[in-house]
Amino acid sequence: MHALWMNFLDFFFPRFCMHCRRPMPSMHDGFICHLCAKAFILSDGGCCQRCGRPMLPEAAENLICADCLEVNPSFQCGITLFPYKGIGKEFIHLIKYKNGHFLKYNLRALFKKFTSKLSVFKGGTFVPVPLHYLRHWQRGFNQSEWIANLLSQHCQGKVKNMLVRRRYTRSQTHLTREERKVNVSNVFSLKKRDVCTPHVHYVLVDDVFTTGATLNACAGTLQKGGAQRISIFTLAHG
Ligand SMILES: [Zn+2]
Ligand SMILES: [Zn+2]
Repeated sequence: MHALWMNFLDFFFPRFCMHCRRPMPSMHDGFICHLCAKAFILSDGGCCQRCGRPMLPEAAENLICADCLEVNPSFQCGITLFPYKGIGKEFIHLIKYKNGHFLKYNLRALFKKFTSKLSVFKGGTFVPVPLHYLRHWQRGFNQSEWIANLLSQHCQGKVKNMLVRRRYTRSQTHLTREERKVNVSNVFSLKKRDVCTPHVHYVLVDDVFTTGATLNACAGTLQKGGAQRISIFTLAHG
């Protein structure tokens, strides 16, 4: 965008930091001020190679977390960008419940920061975790699809809405790990005419990784449909 035009916009439509509400100095800074950006903890240290869970920074590479060793999920590789707390949690809530689509500037900047890590997804097919149609209608959009669109642009891939959620599942927030697993079993299926291609790299996209039950159920569905290479991507973990 032209600098003059941006100054014009800043003058008439001043922007404020999403977290501390301080006025933002320039269009270039997105919607998180420098101070708050420093407090935004990123998962760029050691992490589980399978699900992306942040682990101790000194953790050796190729380490797999205890959960993945126990569950042996249907996906092989996972990336997550930040813990689901503090500014990270607020970031997700703004996107999900407050139509915070303006945060795409910040999200693109985050993707840039993680470019080398995200390069494993290059040219992949990004599959958003679907919402039940009632919830989709209620919210007006699927946040996972919104994230998948931006991520696919960064990774020169494409988005394919190939999964459907057949049952309206109750919120997973207060469920135990076992209850979550039961809650999402047999919930997802492939859309009628969609089949998975063995050589395609499928990347399931969701906003938050909690126990991984939903993502694993989706990965299992893709696997049954013939997918061989399945990864997961979530913005937050926790
Ligand atoms: Zn701030
Ligand atoms: Zn793991």
